[in-house]
Amino acid sequence: MTALALALILLAAPASNDGSEIDVLVLTRLHPRELRFEGPRTLGLAARGDTLAIDGKPVPQPLLLEAGDWRVAPHGPATRRYRASFDIRARNGELRVVATLQLEEYVAGVVASETLPGTPPAALQAQAVVTRSYALAQPRRHPEARACDLAHCQVLGADVRGRHLEAAREATEATRGQVLVLDSGEIALSPFHAACGGHTAEPTEIFPGPDRSGAAAVDDGGCAAPWSARVPLPTLMRAASSAVGGTPADPRALRTQAGAGGFVARVVDRSSDRGATGEAFIRALGAEVGYGKVPSPRFQLLIEGDFALLRGAGKGHGVGLCQSGAARLAGQGLDYTAILERFFPRARLVRRISSE
Ligand SMILES: [Zn+2]
Ligand SMILES: [Zn+2]
Repeated sequence: MTALALALILLAAPASNDGSEIDVLVLTRLHPRELRFEGPRTLGLAARGDTLAIDGKPVPQPLLLEAGDWRVAPHGPATRRYRASFDIRARNGELRVVATLQLEEYVAGVVASETLPGTPPAALQAQAVVTRSYALAQPRRHPEARACDLAHCQVLGADVRGRHLEAAREATEATRGQVLVLDSGEIALSPFHAACGGHTAEPTEIFPGPDRSGAAAVDDGGCAAPWSARVPLPTLMRAASSAVGGTPADPRALRTQAGAGGFVARVVDRSSDRGATGEAFIRALGAEVGYGKVPSPRFQLLIEGDFALLRGAGKGHGVGLCQSGAARLAGQGLDYTAILERFFPRARLVRRISSE
C-alpha cells in the first residue's frame, strides 16, 4: 500500500455523526457518461444505456460507495471533491450520481459556492443560516434526491477550495445547527439573492402560494446594482405570451403593477386582463434574451419605437437575504444575527440541534 493510499483511507474516517444528512443529485450539468472516482477506492465508471460498468464490466445497480473524501472527474485529473457517500446508477447513457453529505458539510459547500471570495465573516455566517434553513425546509425537489447541485436548489460547486472554502467552513461551524424559524414553528424556506437594488421584495409578490420565507420587503439603501436592457418588441411579445398566456395584441397594452420596494408585482395584458408576476415575466424574457440581461423583477418597462426598454436594479428575485447588502452591513460592523433580523423580520433564529 502506498503512503498516498493510506492517507486517503485515514481521510475517509467517518464524519462526526450529527444525525442529519442530505442527499444531493450532483454533477447535474455535466451529464456524465464516464466518471473516475478516487478516494477510498479508485473506480472507472461508465453508463451504457441503462447498464452501469466498472472498468468495462457490468455491475448491479445501484452502486453504493462508502462515505469518504472522494475526488470525482469526468476525465483527466480529478477536480471535484466530495466528503460524501454515493448512490450511482446508469440511465439512458448517463451516470446519475447522488451524494449523501452531512448537513453541515453540505452547508459549507453551498456557502463557498454561492458567495464571493472576500465576503466578510458575518455575511458568510448569515448565508450559512439561510442555506441550512432552506435545505431543511425545502420539499424533496427531485425524484432521486432532496436537492440538485444547481441554482434550481442551491449551488454545490465542489470545485471551490482554498481560503474561501476555509472561510465558508468557519462560518458554518460558527452557526452550527442554527436555523430561521417561523411563528408556526416551521423552519423558514429562506431564500437569498445577489443584490436587491435598494429594497428587498415582498415574498408573495414574487413567489405565488403561501409564504414560508420569513422574509419581508425591507429597505436596503446603498445597494444599487442598476441594469438596463433593450429588447426587440417581437421578443418581448413572445416572452409576454409565454408568461401571461394567450397572444397579447399590442406591447402598449402590457402594464406593470408596482409592488413593494420598486418590484413589479404583476405584468398585465390589458387587452385580455391576463397577467403574470414580474418574476415570471422576467424569467420568460430571460429565456429569450439570456437570464443575465434581465437580472431582476425590479424594473420599469418603456416602449420606444421597435424596442422595449427595461430599466432596473438588482440581481436575483429580491426575496430574503440580499448578499450584497449582507456584505455591506457586515462591513459596517453588524453581526450575523443583526443581518438576519434585518432581512427576515418574520422569522427568529434558533439553535435547532442541541449543542454537543
Ligand atoms: Zn434542484
Ligand atoms: Zn440589497
